[in-house]
Amino acid sequence: MAKPIYLDYHATTPVDRRVLDAMLPYFTERFGNPASRQHSYGWDAQKGVDTARAQVAALIGATPGEIVFTSGASESNNLAIKGIASCLRDKGDHLITVATEHRSVLDTFKKLGQEGWRVTFLPVDREGFIDLDQLRATITNRTVLVSAMTANNEIGTVQPLGEIGAVTSERGVLFHTDAAQAVGKVPIDVHAMNVDLLSLTGHKYYGPKGAGALFIRRRKPRIELACQIEGGGHENGFRSGTLNVPGIVGLGAAAEICRSGLDSERQKLGALRDRLLSLLKSGIDNVHVNGPLGDRRLSHNLHVTFPGVDGERLLMAIGDLAVSTGSACSSGSGAASHVLEAIGAAAVPGASVRFGIGRMTTDEEIDTAAARVVKVVHSLGSKPVTA
Ligand SMILES: *Cc1c(COP(=O)(O)O)cnc(C)c1O
Repeated sequence: MAKPIYLDYHATTPVDRRVLDAMLPYFTERFGNPASRQHSYGWDAQKGVDTARAQVAALIGATPGEIVFTSGASESNNLAIKGIASCLRDKGDHLITVATEHRSVLDTFKKLGQEGWRVTFLPVDREGFIDLDQLRATITNRTVLVSAMTANNEIGTVQPLGEIGAVTSERGVLFHTDAAQAVGKVPIDVHAMNVDLLSLTGHKYYGPKGAGALFIRRRKPRIELACQIEGGGHENGFRSGTLNVPGIVGLGAAAEICRSGLDSERQKLGALRDRLLSLLKSGIDNVHVNGPLGDRRLSHNLHVTFPGVDGERLLMAIGDLAVSTGSACSSGSGAASHVLEAIGAAAVPGASVRFGIGRMTTDEEIDTAAARVVKVVHSLGSKPVTA
């Protein structure tokens, strides 16, 4: 049986060949520990890490000294949020985040809530955006941190980072963003956008799994946070543990490839996404798009609901497509996602599908996938378009 067509690039991406080639020597010849300062094995490994640190920093407008390597975005989110909360306990008792965040952010804030912090989960509008006036009104002189994701992993909403950063910096509150879905896909400049902490992960941008980073601003202001993993004091004391050198080298190589091709890849994937949507719309008369259209959405994301279609049955019937299905059916067996709930789309009973398009996706795959979905939706009982 042929492999399903992969359209789940928000879940993970394959490692780019060029990234793998850059990593391989660091498993074998250059296997040294960068903490070994006495010999060339250590120096070679350190050189690979230094290059990667500069490459990751360049992708987000940071300086190399502001990058701390971690195991991925979940760890970076935990380190940023818990690290700031424990450092600024004396300064305040209030934290702000957004209802549509990733679980690794939401659950971290829930835990801090149990530990005595007041946590505000900001609502979003029908397209997934927060209201800047509401953010402004929610910040008090007891607020220490705002955490708002750059791009949503389900519906692709890209928050206006620069506008959020303008509010937080004006009010003297720290701004963390989970940019796991956005790094390498949309331009980010942490200094221009007044971002103080940013989480990223390699496997969402054609790098390896288990390698990620946290940007921690080191000037204007210099941010201190409590480390969450104690030990040998690696990474300036922010994160102990022997560095995952091959993973870090891959994280850097993937960042460099994304940086140099960002605009062209964004356009290419946007064209494929638009083609997919227009094929779906021309075959099915009721296609509801979740999230915004235009350049305030990730160009490689499409999230749709087919009203009146049974989510479970759709999922079964499109087994030859590797997509993610979130049921928007409030009466069905599948629980609605917290993101669809937050934008009010869970009220539309039907089957929801998230398509994530990526670097390796072809025109032909898009055409095949669209034809397949159109056929299945028809067979499940939504009315076909009548010419
Ligand atoms: C994938 C993802 C994460 C988790 O990243 P890991 O590296 O797998 O821990 C966090 N936030 C968002 C928005 C994601 O898409």
